[in-house]
Amino acid sequence: MPKAKETVLEIDLKALKHNFEYIKSKLKNNTKILAVVKAFAYGTDANLIADYLQKLDVDYFAVAYVNEGVALRDAGITTPILVLHPQTVNFKTLIERCLEPNLYSVKKLEAFIAIASKENQVNYPVHIKFNTGLNRLGFLENDVDYIITQLKETSSIKVKSLFSHLAASEDIKEKEFTINQIKTFKTISDNFSNAIGYQPIRHLTNTSGIINYPEAHLDMVRTGIGLYGFGNSEEENKKLKPIATLKSVISQIHKLKKGETVGYNRSYKSEGFEKTATIPIGHADGIGRHYGNQKGFVTINGKRALIVGNVCMDMIMVDISDIDCHEGDEVIIFGDTPNASQFANSAKTISYEIIAAISQRVRRCFTNG
Ligand SMILES: *Cc1c(COP(=O)(O)O)cnc(C)c1O
Repeated sequence: MPKAKETVLEIDLKALKHNFEYIKSKLKNNTKILAVVKAFAYGTDANLIADYLQKLDVDYFAVAYVNEGVALRDAGITTPILVLHPQTVNFKTLIERCLEPNLYSVKKLEAFIAIASKENQVNYPVHIKFNTGLNRLGFLENDVDYIITQLKETSSIKVKSLFSHLAASEDIKEKEFTINQIKTFKTISDNFSNAIGYQPIRHLTNTSGIINYPEAHLDMVRTGIGLYGFGNSEEENKKLKPIATLKSVISQIHKLKKGETVGYNRSYKSEGFEKTATIPIGHADGIGRHYGNQKGFVTINGKRALIVGNVCMDMIMVDISDIDCHEGDEVIIFGDTPNASQFANSAKTISYEIIAAISQRVRRCFTNG
């Protein structure tokens, strides 16, 4: 890749393929893979990532909202798409674009049946979610009879899958809780399948669950962060490859005398003769204010430069007093080293947050496609 000449998010499709194959290597041959491509495929580019994964024969996609699914259909994605958190106001659009809803409550189930029958649908594929301990979205175990009654009264919808979500799959201290969630989900799905008379696809694990609980892979797994290069430990991170590298350049270098200040509200004060570099990336690009004031850092010519002062909307200033560098030199925010997880830790947050935060203003470019 040529050196960056502006702020750019480089996406390595070979790394994506590596991660996909690594995850697949953990599964039994007949376990299906659902790729989670919500939030612009975790801040990369959902259309291109989905297109690439579709060519690798991924079984399913998931997005959070209907508009994300519509964008994938507009881009020519034909693989089934599960919408994890659809809003009733978008149910008609969802049907028009062959997206498949997660139905997680009495209200959502009734609303969807009403709209599907009004639209003359027969056996429209839906997914039923159960709450087994996360307490976020989902029916409870004792809702099964009610759901079955509703389903037997309509031919408009048909259950394609049953699923639930683990609350603490990455936390070994919560192993007992997780095993209990797995048990509860298996019981619910067995009862459900017996009562309905066919066997919907069962899925439960996210990336961490795939790694820690092979017994919970069931018929399909849902992977998001793993595809983008992060596992649930340093060891797993080494086996995966971050697909995105965020790069920028030095716009200007400033020489500061003792007592001079940097940035808004003068929050950084020079303690002697110092040098700073101004980088064209700010909180509007996803580098939140919590990275400012010597928490976050960038890498220039292999050396760490702390962010000094407050993060501006379009810029950060970094301390380069001990770094030999020039205006126009390339700056790495995250990639292989540091990876997004290590960068995020500097501001006490996690890889998921920083990668999904990189705003649409940052140009995306692809390598190894
Ligand atoms: C986002 C999401 C996932 C993906 O989780 P990762 O930890 O990124 O693998 C899986 N299932 C549900 C319900 C989600 O919302």
